[in-house]
Amino acid sequence: MTSAQTILILGAGLIGATLAWRLARAGHAVTVLDAGLPAGAASGRSFGWINASYFACEAHFHLRHRAMQAHHRMVAELGETGHRWTGCLWWEEEGAALDRAAGALTALGYPLHRLTRAEVAARVPALAAPPEAALWFPGEGAVDAAALTRRLLQAAADHGARLWSGCAARRLIVRGGRLAGAMTDQGPVMADQVVLCTGTATPELLAPLGLTFPMLGRPGLILRSRPVAARIGPILASPGQELRQDGAGRLLAPASAAHQADSAERIADLPGALAEATLARLRALLPGLGIEPEEVIAADRPVPGDGLPALGPLPGLEGGWLAVLHSGVTLAPLVGELLAGEIAGQQAAELAPFRPARLM
Ligand SMILES: Cc1cc2nc3c(=O)[nH]c(=O)nc-3n(C[C@H](O)[C@H](O)[C@H](O)COP(=O)(O)OP(=O)(O)OC[C@H]3O[C@@H](n4cnc5c(N)ncnc54)[C@H](O)[C@@H]3O)c2cc1C
Repeated sequence: MTSAQTILILGAGLIGATLAWRLARAGHAVTVLDAGLPAGAASGRSFGWINASYFACEAHFHLRHRAMQAHHRMVAELGETGHRWTGCLWWEEEGAALDRAAGALTALGYPLHRLTRAEVAARVPALAAPPEAALWFPGEGAVDAAALTRRLLQAAADHGARLWSGCAARRLIVRGGRLAGAMTDQGPVMADQVVLCTGTATPELLAPLGLTFPMLGRPGLILRSRPVAARIGPILASPGQELRQDGAGRLLAPASAAHQADSAERIADLPGALAEATLARLRALLPGLGIEPEEVIAADRPVPGDGLPALGPLPGLEGGWLAVLHSGVTLAPLVGELLAGEIAGQQAAELAPFRPARLM
């Protein structure tokens, strides 16, 4: 595809918004539909950590590492986005396991430093018991994914994209072997290319077409505190608890340790019980800060069946595309660049290990 086409994006989360911006900016006529409000699903409930220190395989590492650089390109183009490049102090593993993690990341070319207890204490004076050693990932940061989603949709609208919120795609329309559009309650919306950025709702949209798209059930829970006066600085990844501070001083903390690798299929306790346990860990980690809860946020993470992103053409359906992934905050800007390029006809070799066809 070289000339401008009509593109229908289903889902106004961070991934749909990033693609809308890239495609509208490239001159395509973009319409974005969302069943609810922008960032109303995973993107509005995310921890928002941008990193490549967590990865499932080498290709996944490189995609994440390149995505971190893509964030800086995105910021340079968009201006104010609220990114906080604080770096991360990581000691989720200790002793020999920490050394192995450092070795593996160094071999992959990831910038890191090993810090002593005194160096950790100097960086985060509020820590009750600084670990004997921690890894310092200077390039990591975080962003409020909901705010970034809205900023991207605004930038897409500046290039002519149209956003229809509260407008669900009830079913997909196939004509002559092509994915040709989506049916809404108000009628059909047709397009040359249709991109599903529908997160956890993707399997139910594809099922009526006879396509099975497996996803893992991965519920998550984030505790957000009231603002605390102390400035924590980096993202902290301790063995029992990860946390970061937002621009207003609130602490954000997943209820599960090492939340990116969390494989629990259901949350058994009520949010209140998990929030209390998380609060207790936060207070033990950072005593004297007067940490009080503000909100507990539950969400389903969009995780394809093998845990890796699903990015690219829908098998057997010309004009159909899929972008469903976890770690979508880390990966969004690169997914936007590469997938928008593919929809415009430029193959991206980096996406080869992540094709939806492997799962379908
Ligand atoms: C608790 C939690 C913590 C996380 N932490 C991190 C992290 O630290 N770092 C990181 O990189 N990632 C993290 N993630 C993952 C990241 O937030 C997601 O990968 C990302 O937000 C996915 O964005 P998305 O646009 O694909 O999906 P979503 O934000 O889920 O958006 C999908 C959209 O599709 C819409 N939709 C669904 N069906 C239809 C339909 N039929 N018609 C129209 N619209 C429809 C929905 O309304 C929704 O707005 C976390 C996620 C959670 C839940």
